[in-house]
Amino acid sequence: MGSSAFTFEDTKPVISDDELLADLRAVATNLGALTLPQQKYRALGRYSTTAIKRHFGTWNAAVAAAGLGEASRRDISSTDLFDNLRDVWMKLGRQPRKRDMVKPFSRHTHHPYSERHGGWVNAIRAFLVFVEQAEQPRSSVGKPPLARGSRDPSLRLRFLVMRRDSFKCRHCGKSPAMHLGLELHVDHVIAWSKGGVTAAANLQTLCSNCNLGKSDLDQHDAG
Ligand SMILES: [Zn+2]
Repeated sequence: MGSSAFTFEDTKPVISDDELLADLRAVATNLGALTLPQQKYRALGRYSTTAIKRHFGTWNAAVAAAGLGEASRRDISSTDLFDNLRDVWMKLGRQPRKRDMVKPFSRHTHHPYSERHGGWVNAIRAFLVFVEQAEQPRSSVGKPPLARGSRDPSLRLRFLVMRRDSFKCRHCGKSPAMHLGLELHVDHVIAWSKGGVTAAANLQTLCSNCNLGKSDLDQHDAG
């Protein structure tokens, strides 16, 4: 056919991610299976599992990318686990128990936490150490006060402020722990627009009702 002396001959034909994923799905469909173990694919698939792992990093990542089954627990990052734990804790307004780690509150069960940290309580301890270490204030001594932080506190800072306030609204005292579904906000005591900084000392926990009421008051004051 159109082969010339100048044709570049690649030693490895380039396979696209899509082709690999399509074949993973095809094999799983033929097996009538929702997940796809490597050994099964090795026997029935068109491509080598090595090539697939080269493309996706791990076998489980490839399986997940193909929309098959759930990624292995070992593939969940520690950051993801801690982010999820923080979110569940803030939604519940209290320290989550093992049985709280279910959908829709939690994206992960307690198992990957317990496995990685040697028990649920140890996982909670590790999380708290992580949160407190990571929120060390950046030293601003001797620097011009141009850095007020960002207007919106990080999720980590929100968590620390809520925890300091026992996950209760500082105005009405309500907590999601007692009023399921109550939404807590973290609010500037001295408004950002009036020069207030985004730091724990200038932040407070309010429920969404009180926070909205407060905004109204502010508007009346301003007007
Ligand atoms: Zn309130």
